[in-house]
Amino acid sequence: MKKICPMLMTVTGPSGTGKDAVINALVEQDPQVTRFVTATTRTPRPGEMDGVHYYFLTHKEFEKRLAEGGFYEHNPGYHTNYYGTLKSVVDAHFAEGQDVISDINIDGVRAFEKTLPERLFKILILPPSRERLVQRLTQRNPELAEEGGKRLAAAEADLDHLHDPNWVFQNPDMCSSADGRGSSYKDYDVVLINDVLDHTVAELARIVAAERARREG
Ligand code: ADP
Ligand code: 5GP
Repeated sequence: MKKICPMLMTVTGPSGTGKDAVINALVEQDPQVTRFVTATTRTPRPGEMDGVHYYFLTHKEFEKRLAEGGFYEHNPGYHTNYYGTLKSVVDAHFAEGQDVISDINIDGVRAFEKTLPERLFKILILPPSRERLVQRLTQRNPELAEEGGKRLAAAEADLDHLHDPNWVFQNPDMCSSADGRGSSYKDYDVVLINDVLDHTVAELARIVAAERARREG
């Protein structure tokens, strides 16, 4: 008999690289993959719904669940707001045999390495070039170009080294703020270059199917 061992897939990469678009498309085409919703203490933005975009908790509720050991990972307390992955949420998907996926920064990935090592599958998504990243970011957030390019420059910080597997990313999305260590290709199971969206999604779907088959043995 096949053993079911659902995966927790993390998708990491610089802002604007296409993580959200790739996750949405994969979830739509693979019924065995669910995007898991994380929890936060920040105020919902217009249009954001509880249980859809985040589980919005008060500080008190978050700290109570933290004290009870209710999270697989959470961001360090020095941030104004907490963010974290509730065990109850992920475990409910696992109980249904679902693989789960979300956009998680390198700090979150490192926490999952400790709490869910046997479930974890780490995906890095990079843009094909610096120019294309800037194009996507400004298309999504036109206001970025208006601030003297400062926020754009931050997002671009690593992109001279895109194709060097040993380069340690300095970008905050991929550089651990907790210990100052960055990440490089070796920190991930898979590295994808998101050039044509449909091709990236098709490639990831094949990789996920292969990994699932490998784990089912
Ligand atoms: P992230 O989640 O990594 O910050 P998004 O998924 O929001 O990035 O993508 C940033 C922008 O680029 C969005 O407008 C998205 O539709 C677009 N995009 C994503 N992937 C591609 C692609 N392969 N080609 C062109 N545009 C893309
Ligand atoms: P925002 O407030 O803009 O939705 O998200 C701010 C940051 O929090 C993003 O970098 C996002 O990836 C991160 N984040 C969202 N959920 C979690 C989580 O569960 N754990 C951790 N460590 N970070 C999260």
